Amino acid sequence: MGNPGIYIHIPFCLKKCPYCDFFSQVANEDETRRFLHQLQQEIINKAPFYTTSTFDTVYIGGGTPNRLKSSALMECLDILKKSFHITSNAEITLELNPECIDPEDLKAYEQSGINRLSLGTQSFRDEELKFLGRIHNARKNLDALQLICSTHVFSLACDVITGLPGQSVDDLQMSLDILQKFSPEHLSVYTLTVEKETPLYQWVQKGRINPLDEEKVNMLWKFAHDDLKDKGYSHYEVSNFAKPGYHSRHNSKYWDDSNYLGFGPSAHSRWGRTRFWNPPDLKSYLDGTYQPVYENMNDEQWLTERLMLGLRTEKGFNLNTLSIIKHSQPFFDTISRLNSETETRLLKVEGNFLKATPEGWMLLDSIIEELTEKIDC
Ligand code: SF4
Repeated sequence: MGNPGIYIHIPFCLKKCPYCDFFSQVANEDETRRFLHQLQQEIINKAPFYTTSTFDTVYIGGGTPNRLKSSALMECLDILKKSFHITSNAEITLELNPECIDPEDLKAYEQSGINRLSLGTQSFRDEELKFLGRIHNARKNLDALQLICSTHVFSLACDVITGLPGQSVDDLQMSLDILQKFSPEHLSVYTLTVEKETPLYQWVQKGRINPLDEEKVNMLWKFAHDDLKDKGYSHYEVSNFAKPGYHSRHNSKYWDDSNYLGFGPSAHSRWGRTRFWNPPDLKSYLDGTYQPVYENMNDEQWLTERLMLGLRTEKGFNLNTLSIIKHSQPFFDTISRLNSETETRLLKVEGNFLKATPEGWMLLDSIIEELTEKIDC
């Protein structure tokens, strides 16, 4: 376990995308002003409890953080740095959407110590961006990338979405090839999921949209895996690819059992065996009446989380942690059975680590379901 990290959730977007179930909304100026005030209060109020800890990552995500004025973001970052011990070489990431990037803002980000930008490009095909309800188009993506790359100061991460209805391998390849012209150090390739409580879910229910079938979704995922490996990326987590030395230090904390603190409505924290989170509710956050929810993980919950998150990563799940379960043989029997049921191996053991193969990653949900049934503490 390494140093802890800090996440700040900015819950505002210029428009809500119909597939998105993140906690974000369109806000007016008054809500934005009150949010910033409460965020600063939350930072100041929490800091005295963590004076002995040194943090080495900060991630400002959302929502669309660059929907806020850079001066407001920088003020929050400044207060954060004065309130917590943050290492001088911390990875400080800001999520950006291409529709509202400004050269002056980039200068302000650099001056405030932000050293990594994560750009929500999603696709370079206008029809795909339109389907996703994004307000940017491919041209905006290119303009944003050119602007960011011309500064030569930020490590660049980009997001791509696959598994869109009707999407072909050629469509995905086009987006990945265009991105390569800008050599991003990090790429996240997410598969579109139909989440309840979203307009997309309603459209699917009403038959207005037919989701891509699983076989094609897997074909696209496998294509991204092969293509990006050929382009020099390591596939270090189911949805994440990095050039050597450029994995997301912050996101890795979620997968490797490190501690992290979250600020803002809906933000989650994890400290030892305690998880706590702010409710996904803007009104109570703005009023200052919100109450964080706390949950202590017992051995079984902790081990289940370790398995679920560990198997998502290239590093895998540490089998030594199984020492806390009563009977480990059924767990190993399940691994053998899962491997024997398919033509290609789904799981492999290397040293003390259980790892999913690329074929296993495509079936990860069902693998995890079967293995967690054998966790009996
Ligand atoms: S821009 Fe991102 S966070 Fe905002 S609504 Fe769209 S998908 Fe959700």
